[in-house]
Amino acid sequence: MLKVSYKNVYPVGPRSCYDESKRAGEAFIKAYELQHQMRTKIVRIFNTAGPRIRYGPEFGRVVPNFIHQAIHDEDIIVFGDGSQTRSFIYVVDEIEGILKMVHKDEAIGNVINLGNNKEYTILELANIIKDLTNSNSKIIFNPLPIDDPVRRCPDIQKAKEILNWEPTTSLRDGLKKTIAWFKDNERKS
Ligand code: UDP
Repeated sequence: MLKVSYKNVYPVGPRSCYDESKRAGEAFIKAYELQHQMRTKIVRIFNTAGPRIRYGPEFGRVVPNFIHQAIHDEDIIVFGDGSQTRSFIYVVDEIEGILKMVHKDEAIGNVINLGNNKEYTILELANIIKDLTNSNSKIIFNPLPIDDPVRRCPDIQKAKEILNWEPTTSLRDGLKKTIAWFKDNERKS
Protein backbone atom coordinates (compact mmCIF):
# COMPACT_ATOMS: atom_id res chain seq x y z
CA MET A 1 0.00 0.00 0.00
CA LEU A 2 1.22 3.53 -0.78
CA LYS A 3 2.08 5.62 2.25
CA VAL A 4 0.99 9.28 2.31
CA SER A 5 3.91 11.31 3.59
CA TYR A 6 3.45 14.95 2.54
CA LYS A 7 2.05 17.64 4.82
CA ASN A 8 2.07 21.12 3.27
CA VAL A 9 0.50 21.56 -0.13
CA TYR A 10 -0.53 24.94 -1.57
CA PRO A 11 -1.10 24.55 -5.31
CA VAL A 12 -2.11 28.16 -6.14
CA GLY A 13 0.53 30.34 -4.43
CA PRO A 14 2.95 32.62 -6.33
CA ARG A 15 5.74 30.06 -6.13
CA SER A 16 3.50 27.05 -6.61
CA CYS A 17 4.47 26.32 -10.23
CA TYR A 18 7.96 25.49 -8.94
CA ASP A 19 6.75 23.33 -6.06
CA GLU A 20 4.07 21.64 -8.11
CA SER A 21 6.44 20.88 -11.00
CA LYS A 22 8.65 18.96 -8.59
CA ARG A 23 5.69 17.04 -7.19
CA ALA A 24 4.37 16.32 -10.69
CA GLY A 25 7.80 15.01 -11.68
CA GLU A 26 7.74 12.54 -8.82
CA ALA A 27 4.20 11.48 -9.70
CA PHE A 28 5.21 10.81 -13.34
CA ILE A 29 8.18 8.72 -12.21
CA LYS A 30 5.96 6.65 -9.92
CA ALA A 31 3.39 6.23 -12.71
CA TYR A 32 6.12 4.87 -15.00
CA GLU A 33 7.32 2.57 -12.25
CA LEU A 34 3.85 1.11 -11.79
CA GLN A 35 2.79 1.04 -15.44
CA HIS A 36 6.01 -0.22 -17.00
CA GLN A 37 7.62 -2.03 -14.05
CA MET A 38 10.56 0.37 -14.28
CA ARG A 39 13.18 0.59 -11.58
CA THR A 40 13.12 4.17 -10.33
CA LYS A 41 14.90 6.30 -7.75
CA ILE A 42 13.92 9.83 -6.72
CA VAL A 43 16.27 12.37 -5.16
CA ARG A 44 15.01 15.54 -3.53
CA ILE A 45 17.67 18.20 -3.89
CA PHE A 46 17.72 20.97 -1.27
CA ASN A 47 19.38 24.42 -1.37
CA THR A 48 22.69 23.82 -3.14
CA ALA A 49 25.49 26.30 -3.74
CA GLY A 50 29.05 26.32 -4.99
CA PRO A 51 31.31 27.49 -7.80
CA ARG A 52 29.49 28.12 -11.11
CA ILE A 53 26.17 28.86 -9.41
CA ARG A 54 24.27 31.25 -11.66
CA TYR A 55 23.94 34.85 -10.57
CA GLY A 56 21.46 37.39 -11.92
CA PRO A 57 18.04 38.95 -11.34
CA GLU A 58 16.31 36.12 -13.18
CA PHE A 59 17.73 33.57 -10.73
CA GLY A 60 17.53 35.46 -7.44
CA ARG A 61 19.13 32.84 -5.20
CA VAL A 62 20.34 34.09 -1.87
CA VAL A 63 23.94 32.81 -1.88
CA PRO A 64 25.04 34.34 -5.22
CA ASN A 65 23.09 37.53 -4.46
CA PHE A 66 24.81 38.04 -1.10
CA ILE A 67 28.27 37.15 -2.47
CA HIS A 68 27.88 39.57 -5.39
CA GLN A 69 26.65 42.33 -3.08
CA ALA A 70 29.40 41.71 -0.52
CA ILE A 71 32.36 41.64 -2.92
CA HIS A 72 31.15 44.90 -4.51
CA ASP A 73 30.47 46.56 -1.13
CA GLU A 74 26.82 46.97 -2.15
CA ASP A 75 24.04 46.73 0.42
CA ILE A 76 23.27 43.12 1.32
CA ILE A 77 19.51 42.86 0.97
CA VAL A 78 17.88 40.49 3.45
CA PHE A 79 14.20 39.76 2.85
CA GLY A 80 12.09 39.98 6.01
CA ASP A 81 13.93 40.15 9.32
CA GLY A 82 16.32 37.38 8.29
CA SER A 83 15.06 34.95 10.93
CA GLN A 84 13.84 32.45 8.30
CA THR A 85 16.18 29.48 8.00
CA ARG A 86 17.70 27.48 5.18
CA SER A 87 20.24 24.66 5.09
CA PHE A 88 22.86 24.96 2.35
CA ILE A 89 24.75 22.05 0.88
CA TYR A 90 28.04 22.38 -1.00
CA VAL A 91 27.64 21.27 -4.61
CA VAL A 92 30.37 18.58 -4.43
CA ASP A 93 28.64 16.92 -1.45
CA GLU A 94 25.35 17.02 -3.34
CA ILE A 95 26.85 15.38 -6.43
CA GLU A 96 28.51 12.68 -4.33
CA GLY A 97 25.09 11.92 -2.84
CA ILE A 98 23.49 11.72 -6.28
CA LEU A 99 26.24 9.36 -7.53
CA LYS A 100 25.76 7.11 -4.50
CA MET A 101 22.05 7.07 -5.27
CA VAL A 102 22.76 6.07 -8.88
CA HIS A 103 25.00 3.17 -7.88
CA LYS A 104 23.08 1.71 -4.90
CA ASP A 105 20.48 -0.93 -5.70
CA GLU A 106 19.04 -0.46 -2.20
CA ALA A 107 17.82 2.95 -3.36
CA ILE A 108 15.49 1.48 -5.99
CA GLY A 109 11.90 2.55 -5.39
CA ASN A 110 12.98 5.07 -2.75
CA VAL A 111 12.58 8.82 -2.42
CA ILE A 112 15.67 10.24 -0.71
CA ASN A 113 16.39 13.75 0.53
CA LEU A 114 19.86 15.01 -0.35
CA GLY A 115 20.72 18.20 1.45
CA ASN A 116 22.45 19.58 4.49
CA ASN A 117 20.68 19.44 7.83
CA LYS A 118 22.72 22.25 9.42
CA GLU A 119 20.28 25.12 9.64
CA TYR A 120 21.21 28.83 9.48
CA THR A 121 19.10 31.95 9.55
CA ILE A 122 19.38 34.16 6.48
CA LEU A 123 20.76 36.93 8.70
CA GLU A 124 23.50 34.57 9.89
CA LEU A 125 24.27 33.74 6.27
CA ALA A 126 24.55 37.46 5.42
CA ASN A 127 26.95 38.02 8.31
CA ILE A 128 29.10 34.99 7.45
CA ILE A 129 29.42 36.13 3.80
CA LYS A 130 30.20 39.70 4.91
CA ASP A 131 32.89 38.33 7.21
CA LEU A 132 34.44 35.95 4.64
CA THR A 133 34.61 38.70 1.99
CA ASN A 134 35.90 41.32 4.41
CA SER A 135 33.15 43.51 3.02
CA ASN A 136 32.09 47.03 3.95
CA SER A 137 28.51 46.28 2.85
CA LYS A 138 25.61 47.28 5.07
CA ILE A 139 22.93 44.69 5.76
CA ILE A 140 19.49 46.12 4.96
CA PHE A 141 16.03 44.63 5.24
CA ASN A 142 13.38 44.50 2.48
CA PRO A 143 9.87 43.01 2.71
CA LEU A 144 9.61 39.25 2.77
CA PRO A 145 8.18 37.78 -0.47
CA ILE A 146 4.72 36.24 -0.15
CA ASP A 147 4.90 32.53 0.67
CA ASP A 148 8.57 32.59 1.60
CA PRO A 149 9.02 29.44 3.71
CA VAL A 150 9.94 30.20 7.35
CA ARG A 151 12.07 27.11 7.61
CA ARG A 152 13.61 24.53 5.32
CA CYS A 153 15.76 21.74 6.66
CA PRO A 154 15.89 18.24 5.19
CA ASP A 155 15.62 15.05 7.20
CA ILE A 156 18.57 13.09 5.79
CA GLN A 157 18.20 9.95 7.89
CA LYS A 158 17.30 7.81 4.87
CA ALA A 159 20.34 9.05 2.95
CA LYS A 160 22.55 8.12 5.90
CA GLU A 161 21.02 4.66 6.26
CA ILE A 162 20.53 3.65 2.64
CA LEU A 163 23.40 5.48 0.93
CA ASN A 164 25.82 5.73 3.84
CA TRP A 165 26.12 9.38 2.84
CA GLU A 166 26.08 12.70 4.59
CA PRO A 167 27.51 16.11 3.71
CA THR A 168 31.03 16.79 4.94
CA THR A 169 31.74 20.37 3.81
CA SER A 170 30.97 23.11 6.33
CA LEU A 171 29.00 26.16 5.24
CA ARG A 172 32.06 28.38 5.70
CA ASP A 173 34.36 26.10 3.66
CA GLY A 174 31.83 25.83 0.84
CA LEU A 175 31.29 29.59 0.84
CA LYS A 176 35.04 30.27 0.75
CA LYS A 177 35.35 28.22 -2.45
CA THR A 178 32.25 29.84 -3.95
CA ILE A 179 33.51 33.35 -3.11
CA ALA A 180 36.92 32.58 -4.65
CA TRP A 181 35.21 31.41 -7.84
CA PHE A 182 33.04 34.53 -7.97
CA LYS A 183 36.02 36.85 -7.57
CA ASP A 184 38.02 35.03 -10.22
CA ASN A 185 35.13 34.79 -12.62
CA GLU A 186 34.10 38.42 -12.34
CA ARG A 187 37.69 39.57 -12.94
CA LYS A 188 37.82 37.64 -16.22
CA SER A 189 34.53 39.00 -17.58
N1 UDP B 1 16.64 35.97 0.23
C1 UDP B 1 17.14 37.18 0.72
N2 UDP B 1 17.78 38.00 -0.17
C2 UDP B 1 17.96 37.69 -1.48
C3 UDP B 1 17.46 36.45 -1.96
C4 UDP B 1 16.80 35.61 -1.07
O1 UDP B 1 17.01 37.49 1.91
O2 UDP B 1 18.57 38.50 -2.22
C5 UDP B 1 15.98 35.06 1.19
C6 UDP B 1 14.66 34.51 0.68
O3 UDP B 1 13.61 35.38 1.06
C7 UDP B 1 14.59 33.18 1.40
C8 UDP B 1 16.06 32.74 1.50
O4 UDP B 1 16.82 33.92 1.33
O5 UDP B 1 14.07 33.31 2.69
C9 UDP B 1 16.48 31.70 0.48
O6 UDP B 1 16.10 32.16 -0.78
P1 UDP B 1 16.42 31.34 -2.12
O7 UDP B 1 15.58 31.93 -3.20
O8 UDP B 1 17.89 31.27 -2.35
O9 UDP B 1 15.95 29.84 -1.80
P2 UDP B 1 14.50 29.24 -1.43
O10 UDP B 1 13.63 30.31 -0.85
O11 UDP B 1 13.97 28.66 -2.71
O12 UDP B 1 14.83 28.19 -0.42
